[in-house]
Amino acid sequence: MKRKIYKFGGSSVGNPDTIKKVIEIVSGSLNNNENIVVVFSAFQTITNLLISTGELASVGNEEYKLAFSQIKNIHLTAIEKLTDGDILRKTRTKVFKLIDDLEKLIYGISLIKELSPRSRDHLMSYGERFSCTIIAGAFNNSGVEAEFLDSRKVVKTDDNFGNARVNFVLTNNLIREYFDNAKKLQVVCGFIGSTADNETTTLGRGGSDYTASIFGAALEAKEIQIWTDVDGVLTADPKKVKKALPIQKMSYEEALEMSHFGAKVIYPPTIRPALIKSIPIIIKNTFNPSFVGTEITTAAFASDYAITGISTIENVALIKIQGTGLVDVANIAGRIFKIIAKESINVILISQASSGHSICFTVLETQSSKAVALIQEELKYELNEGFISGVEADKEVSIVAVVGENIRNMSGVSEKIFQALGRNGIEISAIAQGSSRLNISFVIKRKDESKALNAIHDNFFLSDYKAINVFMVGTGSLGRTFIQQLKNQSKYLYDELNLDIKIVGIANTRKMHFDNDGINIENWENELNIKGKESNTENFFELLKQSNLPNSVFVDCTSSEIIIDKYLDLLSSAVSIVTPNKKANTSRYDYYLQLKKAVKKYNVSFFYESNVGAGLPIISTIQDFVYSGDKILQIEGVLSGTLSYLFNNLSKERTFSQIIKDAHEKGFTEVDPREDLNGIDIARKLLILVREAGYKLELEDIIIENLVPSTLINGISKEEFFNRLSELDDLYEQKRIEAEKETKVLRYIAKYEGGKASVVLEAVDSNHPLYSLSSNDNKIAFKTVYYNERPVIMRGPGAGVKVTSGGILADIVRIANNFY
Ligand code: ASP
Ligand code: MG
Repeated sequence: MKRKIYKFGGSSVGNPDTIKKVIEIVSGSLNNNENIVVVFSAFQTITNLLISTGELASVGNEEYKLAFSQIKNIHLTAIEKLTDGDILRKTRTKVFKLIDDLEKLIYGISLIKELSPRSRDHLMSYGERFSCTIIAGAFNNSGVEAEFLDSRKVVKTDDNFGNARVNFVLTNNLIREYFDNAKKLQVVCGFIGSTADNETTTLGRGGSDYTASIFGAALEAKEIQIWTDVDGVLTADPKKVKKALPIQKMSYEEALEMSHFGAKVIYPPTIRPALIKSIPIIIKNTFNPSFVGTEITTAAFASDYAITGISTIENVALIKIQGTGLVDVANIAGRIFKIIAKESINVILISQASSGHSICFTVLETQSSKAVALIQEELKYELNEGFISGVEADKEVSIVAVVGENIRNMSGVSEKIFQALGRNGIEISAIAQGSSRLNISFVIKRKDESKALNAIHDNFFLSDYKAINVFMVGTGSLGRTFIQQLKNQSKYLYDELNLDIKIVGIANTRKMHFDNDGINIENWENELNIKGKESNTENFFELLKQSNLPNSVFVDCTSSEIIIDKYLDLLSSAVSIVTPNKKANTSRYDYYLQLKKAVKKYNVSFFYESNVGAGLPIISTIQDFVYSGDKILQIEGVLSGTLSYLFNNLSKERTFSQIIKDAHEKGFTEVDPREDLNGIDIARKLLILVREAGYKLELEDIIIENLVPSTLINGISKEEFFNRLSELDDLYEQKRIEAEKETKVLRYIAKYEGGKASVVLEAVDSNHPLYSLSSNDNKIAFKTVYYNERPVIMRGPGAGVKVTSGGILADIVRIANNFY
């Protein structure tokens, strides 16, 4: 019966308890009559401890003794915990022998003060020899007859210490011969081998995986199982992408690409021996053994997704060589890469524009200064003559690789990748796609790495749901109502529109709090008060930018002038904005234009439907006119709930002062009603509409009639104003009677026509679109080139936190629909 190879890594044998789990897993399979070979790494941390012991000894640092005794204790304790009686004694004798030898070796290193690659390999080999000796004992102790196999006997390599290359012909024969006579369960040391002269070698850090594959191929095993501490190869690094998913099946080629690009689950050389013999490699989780894991086989399977996974290399630098004299590129590229290779600098990715004005490639960051110096030296002449303008290294960069067999079959994969990046303002410094078309790689700034990973990951694996990350300031009645509405609506938005809208940052004047996973919306106030830090505008925006989350939206529930100064910076950082705060759009025209330009340049959204008429779709209607090529000729409207209420109710029976007091009690007015009556807020609304219609206008260009005379403004407190409010009753009763004589009504009208803008009290007759109005409704009439005979009219409640926050939420949803 064909064998199966099980390999357990350091974390699977991290301590005696996990070793017991391993024994359970193996015994279970043996009881199912599986024919198994087990390969082990050194116990967790031991290889590193051995290296530091050697390094300390080689510089004469006495602390090596401490590290050595740590190694000794870990193994002796394991024996105590895993074996007893006769087996314990026998295992301990064997391990004591190893400890003795190791001590001598380290002592030797400390005497000659040198740790050569050769002695380093010998030193490291103790890790696997200890672990396998003890684990073989533990198997025997649990009733499974097992035998320790020192793989140096059968894995033959060259003498490239530290990274030895396997002589497969010899090794395969030796392994087969050995197994012809092996009866018991073989407990094989991973990682190590030996030269023709029987010098100990190692197969590279993480090399136990490779050992498993070497044995698997030699024995033509049925499968090779790599047991580790995660559920298999994941679609992305779970430390960076919370929603990473285990990959169920992938091809050898995909596994190779992923493992080269930082997915550390499997040591890259492991793939080849298995691939040649078409032996499936299965990644399993020792701590979740019933989970299927990842199966790596030939590509004959259909994956549900367009890509298989995304991985990254972080510690790289991008070397750029540019210049108009770089015409003879073939020659120059040849010279560059020759000199780079000669110094064993590993080139990870190369990109060259076909115009031939630039070549760039990535190397490990630690080698970048050397690479630059080498190239500068090599291209001295070209640099002096100005053929090449410079050789530079961009350090803080990362390579992101998107991997998948389907990339070659499906169209639009790269479009989807680069859309995700573009939408989130991530700049790309270089792109490369291998000719296998299995991998699209690109270089970005390191600070953008996690944002890029998440945006791409969401785009491909969670395209069903879009995560929207909201940062909000202001938790007054509007902010609160918004959160309440979001809470009520979030299930609908999730189920019907597939939007997962989370509040990831929140601040008021006292506190601020961030949570990339989303602040608990049921309990936001407690979270803000308890976990929040002291609020500070600068820090809030700094942290917002540092969060660097994809699909970010900033919501400004304040009317602050300070916050709007940040808008431009936010838009240029790829953060969209939704705001009921009128201040930004009514500051200088220049700033308004800058905001509009930033929206285009950075591909973000800036929505402010609630600036005018709360949730009424007034601004989007104007925008639609403009988009469709229509031209707005006239705007006329009653744009304040308070003033609408005032003049709708003014009559013989109800005086000006009575109505204002009533409106104040009903909560329609500002805290100080003079802020409604002075017309400035209405003028701001008009200004926004006019600008939106495409006309240049400043606030001071608007003629504003203040309904309160200066005698009731300057130096008059709010209370005093209320006391003296009835002084105005006669004036307005007079105006009303005059209007009534002509069968007209009074309306406080914001108006724009032919370059002139005003907010004034007018008497209008029944032919006027603003004649009929009731309650505290807003009403607005547009005359356009297309709608000329009869204007387009919109009417409805235009104030109040509910309709305003509804407008905010609608804007967020509109933005979300633009996201990918
Ligand atoms: N023990 C070796 C190392 O730490 C080999 C392995 O764990 O795969 O690199
Ligand atoms: Mg490993």
